[in-house]
Amino acid sequence: MKKSRLFLLFLLFIVLAGLNLIPDEPAVAPLAAGEMRVHFLDVGQGDSILVEFPNGESMLVDGGTRRAGGLVKDYIKSLGINRLDYVVATHPHEDHIGGLIEVIETIPVGSVYMPRVVHTSQTFETFVQTVVDKGHRFRRARAGLVMIEDGDLRVNMLAPVREDYEDLNNHSAVVKLEYKSVSVLLMGDAERLSEKEIDSSRVRAQVLKVGHHGSNTSTSEEFLEKVSPVYAVISCGKDNDYGHPHRETLDRLEGAGVKVLRTDILGTIILTTDGREIQFSSDR
Ligand SMILES: [Zn+2]
Repeated sequence: MKKSRLFLLFLLFIVLAGLNLIPDEPAVAPLAAGEMRVHFLDVGQGDSILVEFPNGESMLVDGGTRRAGGLVKDYIKSLGINRLDYVVATHPHEDHIGGLIEVIETIPVGSVYMPRVVHTSQTFETFVQTVVDKGHRFRRARAGLVMIEDGDLRVNMLAPVREDYEDLNNHSAVVKLEYKSVSVLLMGDAERLSEKEIDSSRVRAQVLKVGHHGSNTSTSEEFLEKVSPVYAVISCGKDNDYGHPHRETLDRLEGAGVKVLRTDILGTIILTTDGREIQFSSDR
């Protein structure tokens, strides 16, 4: 008797679920009107940043390693995002483009940006092939590019300034998000040389996604002074092989009075803003 009652309940659940009356619990609440949200995904050692814009558009900057691709894809879908308007591959290293392969294979995307530089790795070849197979053409990531200009919202690319850097990291697309009085600077893995060449009159931002996972090769004192951030976000894996973030970088940030948030400690970090106030939350 009891068993059959349970079975009936189970059947009822299946029917209701089928009718979509029992929705999957979303990982994060839906975006409120007039808000912008920036998710610094915990992809271990790598970068993946998802932006939900107040105009309803969305952008993914990097996708972590190939192994992280499924996680990134699931995270995007859990927010109810079924299409990415913009995808930026900051530069061809595996910890940035690897996960983009699965994302682009499974989620429709609008424009795909990448700097004009190649890399002789299987991951890079597969990434390019995937984008081409999906019928996209690459748009060239470069300084001076206006990606979005929509009322109070502006998204600009500040780097790469040149196309002949020796180090792949310096080819990194640097993206600046500006919504009303709040700005966020996403550095990719840009190092000191790129920092020096970026138009310094445009780098000021409350939030800095620190270049190159907090490596000492980036975030020079001079650059930090120009950006003058209140918060710094570092995306890196726990106990990674590179010792990221480096002590010197953390010291420079601390010396400048910047509050540091790290994905290896906090997990995925979510910034929410109405264009005036900034709020952070994390999943740990
Ligand atoms: Zn990297």
